[in-house]
Amino acid sequence: MLTTHEGGCHCGKVRFRVKADLAEVLDCNCSVCTKKGFLHLIVPPEQFELLKGQDELTVYQFNTGTARHQFCASCGMHPFYVPRSDPDKIDVNARCLDNIDVSELTPKKFEGKNWEAANTAHHLDQA
Ligand SMILES: [Zn+2]
Repeated sequence: MLTTHEGGCHCGKVRFRVKADLAEVLDCNCSVCTKKGFLHLIVPPEQFELLKGQDELTVYQFNTGTARHQFCASCGMHPFYVPRSDPDKIDVNARCLDNIDVSELTPKKFEGKNWEAANTAHHLDQA
């Protein structure tokens, strides 16, 4: 079920509004998400609105440079980013939503660590 939430970084300079289904939360095991503790809600851009803070965002990129790991330059939080798995979508950090009880979420595992292998297998399935 799609519900509307607001959220942001820790210091409040970056704020956003998102329409998302909290039952679709993903927990990714890749190198960066593991360390960050990012809980993913991947939504189409029309369900995401940046309310303020575009100028506060710094981008960290590595490996293929497809993912744009944005974070607040002031407080270092990663409220959302553009994921490599879906570069045309926005990936919101469920931990950065207002009034969210993370212990009530039931994240599904996302295979980010071996993403190339998993992705190739997916394409083979379709061949
Ligand atoms: Zn901040």
